[in-house]
Amino acid sequence: MLRRALLAASASERIHRIVTTAPLTRDVVARFVAGDTADDALAVTRRLLDEGLLVSLDYLGEDAVDPQLAAAVTDEYVRLLGRLDAAGMSGGGVAEVSVKPTAVGLDLAEHGEKTARENIARICSAAREAGTTVTLDMEWHAKVEPTLRILAQLRPEFPDLGCVIQSYLRRSPEDCRALAVAGSRIRLCKGAYNAAPDVAFPTRAEVDRCYARCLRILMAGPGYPMIATHDPRLIRIAGQRARAAGRRADRFEYQMLYGIRPAEQLRLVGGGEQVRVYVPYGSDWYGYLVRRLAERPANLAFFLRSLASRG
Ligand SMILES: Cc1cc2nc3c(=O)[nH]c(=O)nc-3n(C[C@H](O)[C@H](O)[C@H](O)COP(=O)(O)OP(=O)(O)OC[C@H]3O[C@@H](n4cnc5c(N)ncnc54)[C@H](O)[C@@H]3O)c2cc1C
Repeated sequence: MLRRALLAASASERIHRIVTTAPLTRDVVARFVAGDTADDALAVTRRLLDEGLLVSLDYLGEDAVDPQLAAAVTDEYVRLLGRLDAAGMSGGGVAEVSVKPTAVGLDLAEHGEKTARENIARICSAAREAGTTVTLDMEWHAKVEPTLRILAQLRPEFPDLGCVIQSYLRRSPEDCRALAVAGSRIRLCKGAYNAAPDVAFPTRAEVDRCYARCLRILMAGPGYPMIATHDPRLIRIAGQRARAAGRRADRFEYQMLYGIRPAEQLRLVGGGEQVRVYVPYGSDWYGYLVRRLAERPANLAFFLRSLASRG
């Protein structure tokens, strides 16, 4: 209930203004976001790589409203990949990038899908130059079809282009079956958006059961599963499924968000597993922050306490 209400309230201009201008918001943002600039992102990447973690960098921003903005976001990714390469942090895919299709044009009124596809192709070319990969984030459910179409159209040229599947959607086991093919990189997460019960599971238990079902499909197939969750039970099940499928540690990876369960990330690395941290950066952090607060009431309480104590 709280999660639904928060996600709905976040669309309000007034709440956006209050949250983004509150002095203490910055402290909360710093827990989940590397910083405003590519320099901040590179510094955090260096630190995480030194700890034995892998990284996926996300330049924050959603819903590019004009082609110029979509092109600017694309340029930022291309520049970032060049800098990662120059710093020796991208070879072998140790640091890669995650891209939201709407941030590079998917929602433009005219030729949105074509613009997004062309911009993603540019980012994929830059990633290839840098010796690394791109993963498409999955946004709200109306974006699943166009995102999967872009994936299918670009994979012949960029076979290592990955994408996200969300277990809150009823369609996801079927999508996993279609995508569990050789070379396919699939990041499995629960889903951070709301959707009506005809398309999404209404309870956490069902979302978790669907996650386990998708896990089984991906682990049994010839693709490369990326297990994006902080849920201890699902992490345990993933390990069991990987062993049952005879997968070595280099044939799948765990993924978690920057600032969430960092000790667990290092514990898994210590046990010989691959763990990638999703690191967002940029000044357009509002939508991302709201989703992190909505996921966990304790985060929201922490946020409200910091506003109250000094605001
Ligand atoms: C690498 C990665 C990429 C993602 N990409 C997408 C995407 O493209 N599209 C999309 O819809 N969603 C994406 N997500 C978000 C995801 O869908 C979930 O909303 C998020 O991961 C929380 O779900 P959970 O699996 O960790 O399980 P939950 O049941 O939400 O959490 C399990 C436990 O993890 C910890 N935890 C979880 N969330 C938080 C938090 N915010 N703060 C503190 N502790 C927390 C708590 O200990 C909690 O008990 C991504 C997540 C990851 C890790």
